[in-house]
Amino acid sequence: MAKATFEVPELSQYPEVPALVSETMAHSAPFVSRTEFQEPLGFPGELVEDWQAKALDKMGELLGKYRGLRVYLDSCVKCGSCTDKCHYYLGTKDPKNMPVGRQDLMRKVYRRYFTLAGRFFPKLVGAADFTKEVLDEWYSYYHQCSQCRRCSVFCPYGIDTAEISMAAREIMDSIGVGQKYCNEIISKVYKIGNNLGLPGPALMDTLEGLEEDVYDETGVRVRYPIDQVGAEILLVTPSADFFAEPHVDGLIGYGKVLHEAGVSWTLSSHASEAANFGMFIGSYENMRRVAQRIREAAIQLKVKRIVFGECGHAWRVAYSFLNTLAGPWDFLDPRYPVPQHICEFTYDLIQKGKLTFDKGENDDKVLTYHDSCNVARASRMGDTPGGQFEIPRAIIKAVCNHYYDMDEETIRDRTFCCGGGGGLLTDDLMELRVKGAKPRVEALNNVMQEKGVTHMAAICAICKSQFTKVLPYYGMEMDQIVSLHQLVSNAIVLTPGPEDEEADEEPDDKDDEAEGDED
Ligand code: SF4
Ligand code: SF4
Repeated sequence: MAKATFEVPELSQYPEVPALVSETMAHSAPFVSRTEFQEPLGFPGELVEDWQAKALDKMGELLGKYRGLRVYLDSCVKCGSCTDKCHYYLGTKDPKNMPVGRQDLMRKVYRRYFTLAGRFFPKLVGAADFTKEVLDEWYSYYHQCSQCRRCSVFCPYGIDTAEISMAAREIMDSIGVGQKYCNEIISKVYKIGNNLGLPGPALMDTLEGLEEDVYDETGVRVRYPIDQVGAEILLVTPSADFFAEPHVDGLIGYGKVLHEAGVSWTLSSHASEAANFGMFIGSYENMRRVAQRIREAAIQLKVKRIVFGECGHAWRVAYSFLNTLAGPWDFLDPRYPVPQHICEFTYDLIQKGKLTFDKGENDDKVLTYHDSCNVARASRMGDTPGGQFEIPRAIIKAVCNHYYDMDEETIRDRTFCCGGGGGLLTDDLMELRVKGAKPRVEALNNVMQEKGVTHMAAICAICKSQFTKVLPYYGMEMDQIVSLHQLVSNAIVLTPGPEDEEADEEPDDKDDEAEGDED
């Protein structure tokens, strides 16, 4: 079991709403971004002198620009429906981690400066001055929201706390108070092309290594091409897929599926990142700059289609906003959706009977599936409502013999966030991540006890990284989290290409020659 410097919550068999313990997470705040990571994103390097006036200006601008923000701040009736729905509240007991508590941190400032009642009778309407203490509180608790949108499913008014968190982060960035983890990563995308700062030659080495590994294991030459001009498909995938476990096993799986599909495809060193952290910091401009790289790569490589790999928030940005951020995509083949998810691609081939599987290859596992929050509540897949829930499950069932869902209250649109989404996947927030993972780990533990589940599949790079890190805190193994396409990779029966057949013939020819020599 991983050692913790904080109390790891105990898992229970039934969901429990914890008694409130005020300010238990008031100490939690991520490292503040430095000037070198602020300025490339267009933000001041440090807290500006007249920060309060500038922050209120920015808030006014956002209230005018995003009508939903004003509606959310105006319409809460304090019904309490959302109070026990946030995984961070359930794991930390801190009332400011109740969605309504989190919203109120902004609502009290909004009321003070943007409503008549708040200007004249602040105490009567819960309005408060925007002091440095309030700003510090914002920094702490708006970095305890993974923008997962679970609370909005249960709010009768549909109030989306994720939108309020994004606005708060945008306001803080505009006065020089950014978060190091997110802003450093976006800087790396601008400078090098991906979140991990992997340069083109390192990517090429990795992909060559993968080709050799797959050939050694299967005897089939599966290609993992990069920067191939004229390929039909551009695959955009999270950079974690290039090297980390279990992500890379997913990438191996995509390559095998694309091999069986018989289409030409390529990765891009220019757009070697599907993730778009611009969304986490609420910055449209940065989200747009990151997304533009995909357009540039698609044009440069003259591709006809774009397919996204397994990444939850990347799929949200791609599915919901890619057209406005980087479109129009009129130069792509109109017969295919722009963009397409790798799960849609694989599922389509399964439907058409074009893939052959040996499900027994996954018989050492009993599977369950974690719906990643951004896929579940902020996007869709396929042509039917709920495709984002059914398509991944249908793929798993096509490649595995043993599958069980977790408790209905914790999956599909009610799924719990992994605890590391929304730009919180950083070691300086480990306590929050472990505690926030509790509801999901609890549901996993229950299905392990009741059904003998051994592994949980996911289609999000952040979920996979988060579970790899936090499962050991709960006495589980880090490799219990797997990529969905890792399961596909295990079971898929590969068809040898012409070059494999030639290679097969070579040893026989040599044998013949050798026999001839002996004669
Ligand atoms: S969006 Fe998710 S993390 Fe944020 S308050 Fe709502 S439930 Fe909690
Ligand atoms: S469920 Fe909606 S209306 Fe009710 S307290 Fe929560 S945010 Fe307010």
